[in-house]
Amino acid sequence: MNIGVLGIQGDIEEQEEMVRKIGHNPVRVRRVEDLSKIEALIIPGGESTTIGKLMEKYGFMEALRDSDIPILGICAGMVLLSKEVVGKKQPLLGLMDIVVRRNAYGSQRESFEEDIYFKGEKIRGIFIRAPVVDRILSDNVEVIAKEGDNIVGVREGRYMAVAFHPELSEDGYKVYQYFVEEVCNL
Ligand code: GLN
Repeated sequence: MNIGVLGIQGDIEEQEEMVRKIGHNPVRVRRVEDLSKIEALIIPGGESTTIGKLMEKYGFMEALRDSDIPILGICAGMVLLSKEVVGKKQPLLGLMDIVVRRNAYGSQRESFEEDIYFKGEKIRGIFIRAPVVDRILSDNVEVIAKEGDNIVGVREGRYMAVAFHPELSEDGYKVYQYFVEEVCNL
């Protein structure tokens, strides 16, 4: 499969490496035209405000809302897929029925590592200024990952989002495998 990685800002190369690791072909997506070359898209972690503004400027917002490309959002990518951010207005795709809280762990736990449950399986979660899902707005959203009581992974149809960084952990490839095998295979 040709899996696009949105190449605007963030940890782009790490995503491409994971795509290769699970046996697929990464394609860097810099312009809207590149969307015609891919069968799925990853929005990497980074700074959601910056990525969102540039997505708007380059026309990615409408293009992705109009397309049926499956999307995996990582950390800032989760924020961008959401409908609403608690206490802040910023450009969002709004494709998933979730409300997120940015930097939800505060400054004391800016970045940390912890075991989490992903589809019922224990994996290592690496959190860097991570958001959490504050509210779910429809029954179409399935919770796929939890850190304690916090919702840190969701899936809704062909969209999926995680608040942690699966590209940084040993067993994180399972998250990408799930995306390709379950979410893209609708
Ligand atoms: N705190 C960032 C944001 O809300 C996300 C951090 C990340 O992607 N690691 O945009």
